[in-house]
This record gives sequence, C-alpha cells and structure tokens, in this order.
Amino acid sequence: MVNVEKRKISIVVPFFNEEAGIDVFYQVILKVINSLPHYSFEVLCVDDGSTDTTLSKLIELVNKDNRFLVLELSRNFGKESALSAGLDAATGCAVIPLDADLQDPPELISSLLAEWEKGADVVLACRTDRQTDSLLKRLSAKAFYRTHNLLSNIEIPEDVGDFRLMDRSVVQAVKQLPESNRFMKGLFAWVGFKSVKVGYIRAARTEGSSRFSGRKLWNFALDGLTSFSIAPLRVWTYIGGVGAVLTSMYAFFIITRTLVLGVDVPGYASLLVAVLFFGSLQLVSIGMLGEYIGRTYMESKRRPCYLIRKVYQNES
Ligand code: UDP
Ligand code: MG
Repeated sequence: MVNVEKRKISIVVPFFNEEAGIDVFYQVILKVINSLPHYSFEVLCVDDGSTDTTLSKLIELVNKDNRFLVLELSRNFGKESALSAGLDAATGCAVIPLDADLQDPPELISSLLAEWEKGADVVLACRTDRQTDSLLKRLSAKAFYRTHNLLSNIEIPEDVGDFRLMDRSVVQAVKQLPESNRFMKGLFAWVGFKSVKVGYIRAARTEGSSRFSGRKLWNFALDGLTSFSIAPLRVWTYIGGVGAVLTSMYAFFIITRTLVLGVDVPGYASLLVAVLFFGSLQLVSIGMLGEYIGRTYMESKRRPCYLIRKVYQNES
C-alpha cells in the first residue's frame, strides 16, 4: 500500500518571558499533536527577546522533540513581529498562531483542522466567553473594535484574536503585504478568503499576567486604527467646513448688529472662546496629521519588522 504523505501543520507560538508556563505548554501541545496522527506538525516557537530562561527552556524542547524549532529574535520586537517571523518561517500546508499562555486552547486545533478539511481557507477561533479577562480589558477591547469597524472598511470580528487556522494560500497572501508596521488582526482580515468560525471559551492565563501594559495596548490600538483607516485625517475637513459655516453665520450676525445698533465694544468673552476653541481644534488636527506623517516616516525606512539572531533545530 502506498503510504500517503501526511499534511504538515505549522503551529506558531510567540514567547516573551514565559518560562513558568513552558512545561505545561509542552504537555498540552504534545497531547494535542499525538491525538492527531493523520497530520505531521512543526511547532515554531518564536522567542521574542525574553529576558528570563524562556530561550534555554525552549532549546531543551527542541533537543527532546524534533517537531519543535525555535527562532530567537535579536531583541523584543513585540507580538506582531514575532508572529510575522513565525509565519515567514512556517512551511506547513496550514498555519495556526497560538498564544504561549494557553489562553487559546490547543484542544480546539482538531476542530479547526476539521473545518479546513471541509474547504475553508481560514478557520477563526471565536471566543464566546472572555469572562477571564478583566472588565477594563473587555470594555476597552469592545470600544476599540467598535471604533475600528466604524472608521475602517475592513471589519475585524470583535470576538476573534490571532488564534485561527490559515491555509497556505492565506499565509502567502499575508506575507505579500509589505508594511513593516504589522497589525496582524487587521492584515488577516484585509486578505479576505473564505472563512468560518468555531467557538471556544477563553481560559485564564496559565501563569503570570498579560505581557501587554496599558501603554502598549493604547499604542497597539492606535497602530490598528491608523493602519486601516484615514477617517481620522479626513474628519477635519468636515469639522473645518462646519466651523467655517457657523463662524460665517456668526460674523454676519455681528456685522448686521453693529450696523443696526452701532459699535459695540464688549465682546471679550466670545472672542476669547472662539480663539481658544479653534486654536485647540487646530492643535488636535495637527496632532492627527503628525500621527500619520510619523507612521509614513517609519514605513519609508523599509526596516525589517524583526531580526533573527539564531534558529535552533533538531535535525535528527
Ligand atoms: N508576547 C510576545 N511579545 C510581547 C508580548 C507578548 O511575543 O512583546 C506573546 C506572549 O508571550 C504570549 C502572547 O504574545 O504568548 C500573548 O501575550 P499575552 O498573553 O500577554 O497577551 P493577552 O493574552 O493579554 O492579550
Ligand atoms: Mg494571554
């Protein structure tokens, strides 16, 4: 009998100071991989400049299991860049990005694969319940997705993270996008393709707390908004237009009043309010311009979004 070649699935996992969770991670992944004997797997662990023993622990994994390989980035580039590094290096017919903290349950991989086999290009893992995230995080996430989807033509599904299965063709499409500021959820949504959803309940982190500080999340949200929408730039044209109409009406009113009632000296308050109001409006709009010019500047440097220091692979 001809031995049918197993299709290879790549699992991409970014690690940033996750030393405490690696053992559990390995156990869980191993169980999932072993329960799916009809596929072969490669697990690409991207060490995103960890400062603890994450890297050495990952190298241990590589030494005992040749399905694992480690990409060591030259410093901390952030999760989006780490994911890009993993996608670029992945060789499987399908690629699944996964969080190292097991908040994306690897047990779901079999359902993702089943939908893929049925013909979907993208299988989205959709969190039906994220009670384990703090209220603030849930609310701010909701506010972000609402704002993003309102401003941009690309809709990012609210309940979907990076955890998903992508067919080779989709990965190829994402890799073609040249920007160095990589807001992955946006890029994934931008490429389109035929997608289906599979639901799951988001677990709590296996250890520690989120590696994203409030400031990092805020900047991330700005990256997301500005990468996929120019509405914040455009809105000033309209605000300016409305302001101009209103001020002309007011000017007409004052001039007429002065002509009819004579010269009226008091007016300090309204003058000051108008000057301050339009002054601050202009500052905000210049700030918004600055956001985009800054980003254009960063893109124009064409720097790679990550650098690999070393690849660890067990050839045996
Ligand atoms: N991560 C990373 N680089 C960073 C921050 C996070 O590679 O600069 C990884 C982290 O190790 C984890 C994943 O990204 O595997 C998600 O991070 P985290 O769980 O802290 O985010 P949250 O679940 O709170 O969104
Ligand atoms: Mg997490």
